[in-house]
Amino acid sequence: MRHRALRPSLLLALYCLAAPSLALDESTQSDKAPKPEPSAQQTAPAEPSLDTNALQEGAQRNTGDQPEKPIPKAKSVELDKPVSESELVAPPATDEEPAPTLETAQPEAPAETPTVEEQEPIGRPLQLLGAEVPPATTTRLAWSPRQHFEGVYSATPVLVVNGAETGPTLCLFAAIHGDELNGIETVRRVMYNLDTETLKGAVIGVPIVNLQGFHRSSRYLTDRRDLNRHFPGDNRGSSASRIARSFFDEVVVHCNAIVDLHTGSFYRTNLPQLRGDLKDPKVVKLTKGFGSTVVLHSDGAKGTLRRAAVEAGIPTVTLEAGAPMVLDELSVSHSVKGIRTLLNQLGMMSKFSLWGDPEPVYYNSTWQRATTGGIIFSNVKLGSTVRKGDLLGTVTNPITNVRKEIRSQYNGRILGMAMNQVVQPGFAAYHIGIQAPEEQISAPQEVTVKAEPAPAAPETTTSEPPQQDTGATVEQPAQSTETEPSGDPEEQSEEDE
Ligand SMILES: [Zn+2]
Repeated sequence: MRHRALRPSLLLALYCLAAPSLALDESTQSDKAPKPEPSAQQTAPAEPSLDTNALQEGAQRNTGDQPEKPIPKAKSVELDKPVSESELVAPPATDEEPAPTLETAQPEAPAETPTVEEQEPIGRPLQLLGAEVPPATTTRLAWSPRQHFEGVYSATPVLVVNGAETGPTLCLFAAIHGDELNGIETVRRVMYNLDTETLKGAVIGVPIVNLQGFHRSSRYLTDRRDLNRHFPGDNRGSSASRIARSFFDEVVVHCNAIVDLHTGSFYRTNLPQLRGDLKDPKVVKLTKGFGSTVVLHSDGAKGTLRRAAVEAGIPTVTLEAGAPMVLDELSVSHSVKGIRTLLNQLGMMSKFSLWGDPEPVYYNSTWQRATTGGIIFSNVKLGSTVRKGDLLGTVTNPITNVRKEIRSQYNGRILGMAMNQVVQPGFAAYHIGIQAPEEQISAPQEVTVKAEPAPAAPETTTSEPPQQDTGATVEQPAQSTETEPSGDPEEQSEEDE
């Protein structure tokens, strides 16, 4: 119903899209007026041929004043071809091409390939961010947080690969924390190796969600808030909350399943691992898709994208690998392999062969902390199996030369740990995984395109206190109130994601 009311803004947006000289205005326009959501009719045309009809009808209507113009088709781009900066800021969608013909709706492929003619695309057009991505095409769109101050921030690129056949929409998000680099490279490698002709469903990749933080090599937004503690967000809340809401409404709700990529935080590094709420059967199905990867049970801190998406009915896991500000090949290649295996397991991509033992290992976890301040050196490595009483590391006071040992209080495995550094007493130094009992893990349930996400999570009604204009020099601690499996409330702020 509210879609109808938004039609005038759609017309305005389309006008801007059609004028190349206004290319930069397009993203700012979206901030003034919420983008219209596609109508049900537009969401699921039965066949591509209907598309063509719709386009022709649209072309006829262009001469009239009817506000029924279809959403513009996204410009099809070959993702593996390098582009110039100017191309990246071009409007995400274009309707100004000479008379939309059947050819523009066809998959991009060399004309001489006969199989293209035979292979009728039966996929569905994907509509998001004010554009329509036809089946068997790839494109780059742009998301701009509504709250930004016009002309200052650039739009965040959103890569879309829509397959020739129907299937779920898998979303890959990275750098919600701007200093976490491994996920950016992981998304790049996955996205640029997808084949639209054989892909069933769609993959949406956002390599850098927190562009503000990324530009400053910071985990946080410019207001020092942690974006991943503000989902699903609130249009009347803090800056972080508004950005979260915009991303949730414009991108997240289009996903049937999500992998949110992270690394350890604050000079800690993580063994490649998934985190998910194992009480949710669809989340369990996702974790099984990654092959032999460590899986940590956790509901997710309140405000994380993962938790908000799961609450909105979209199965989501966090994939943690490596440390912030570091690009490491082992973490990236493990992550890429895991996601490709998942694409295979979800029936979206058969060319990626399955990876190793399909059964992941499930853990609960607890943190072991430094009891004294000083310089920490570790005696264990990521992934090490430890027994109760084993020496994990030492903390030495550089002034007094007093050395204290940290010994394991558990039998388990090192899933995350501090890199050698100066620590304060209480610093979470070792994240120890303790194998979870089988009965704790729900039976997996298929993730299909039918598992339509809830249209949008209800807006949070709790309004945050107004932000003081004090120069914001105080770092915001993670605001989380969830219960950890270990029951230690102190650990809530130590979640990496
Ligand atoms: Zn993170």
